[in-house]
Amino acid sequence: MIIAYLKENNSDISPIVPSNVTKLLKFLDEVWIESGIGDGSYFRDSDYESVTIKSRKDILSGADIIVQISPDITDQEYNSVKDSAIIIGQYAPFNDAKIGEGLQAKNLNVFSLDMIPRTSLAQSMDVLSSMASIAGYQSILSALQYMPRYMPMMITAAGSIKPSKVLVIGAGVAGLQAIATARRLGAMVEAFDTRAAVKEEVQSLGAKFVEVEGATDDKDAGGYAVEQTEEYKMRQAQLIQEKAIASDIVVTTAQLRGRPAPKLITKETVEAMKSGSVIVDLAASTGGNCAICEDNKVVDHNGVKIIGDSNLANRMPQDASTLYGNNIHNFLKHIVRDGTIDMNSEDEILSKSIISKKS
Ligand code: NAD
Repeated sequence: MIIAYLKENNSDISPIVPSNVTKLLKFLDEVWIESGIGDGSYFRDSDYESVTIKSRKDILSGADIIVQISPDITDQEYNSVKDSAIIIGQYAPFNDAKIGEGLQAKNLNVFSLDMIPRTSLAQSMDVLSSMASIAGYQSILSALQYMPRYMPMMITAAGSIKPSKVLVIGAGVAGLQAIATARRLGAMVEAFDTRAAVKEEVQSLGAKFVEVEGATDDKDAGGYAVEQTEEYKMRQAQLIQEKAIASDIVVTTAQLRGRPAPKLITKETVEAMKSGSVIVDLAASTGGNCAICEDNKVVDHNGVKIIGDSNLANRMPQDASTLYGNNIHNFLKHIVRDGTIDMNSEDEILSKSIISKKS
């Protein structure tokens, strides 16, 4: 079985790093990479030992498994892939149901990595968690670039500086990393989440958990947050406004899979915040948690900066590639059995991540 990795055209993150190759060759026959695949993440072609460097065209027509992070294969290119080929990427079918149908109409075998279930077994394959963890860390570093203040308390001959206050809304994978990073840098941190289950994790990182009574239970949502009642949203909005006004940095990470992100920071809240405060909105790609966030832009609203960067993991491309490459390797190790992939397997990880199956 030949596996081939395509270079990303819109990201610096590579789906394979040099250390993946030997491990892949334990259960696959050949590893091909597109020339320059590691350029953005500072890996040279020569760092990838035991691979064959191929052109995009050769990869598409010759490989049994084709891997790419964000699929940009054109319709014309799809026509050239081998009949039995399997394509692996991140297709986000929960944002657009037609994606799966379109691939099915082309009669392709496709796995979408963002459909891997949130189970303990699948944790090592979870690309969303890996990227969210980096984004959480980077959110604090990005905020610091714009914040006109120190993070930790400083006692100097010229006087004392109070520690910065950080508010994190949504204490999932990204939020917990943001909390940990802000704490390491000496900030005072508070965090909110609709899932009461995260209270202990927040506290164990040295942050205060802010509670809003009456959250809707999410235990059947497979690890994803659920929509909250209007009454809860009102109570939460009041408390967020209060806490945001007192904060120097607000990081928002609240997402609802397949739906627009909940608006948690209103324009009025932003206007009530101190000049020099920074909001980092990690939900920017799904509309943002902040009413005046714009995806991939830094907005200055009355001295409050709102960073809407939906791809913060791209700022740390080398480690992002390492985690991504490892996630894909772990996924492949799980789905390739005796040199083949059973597209009809009832295995949960395999069946849930297939979004199109050749008839
Ligand atoms: P996410 O990106 O979907 O959401 C981020 C956080 O925002 C979540 O904690 C969510 O509860 C919170 N949120 C949503 N709406 C909110 C609102 N209105 N107000 C405040 N907070 C709100 O979530 P995530 O970071 O991917 O992870 C969520 C959970 O799933 C975590 O417990 C995580 O550990 C778990 N998880 C498990 C696996 C696995 O076992 N393989 C993988 C990934 C995540």
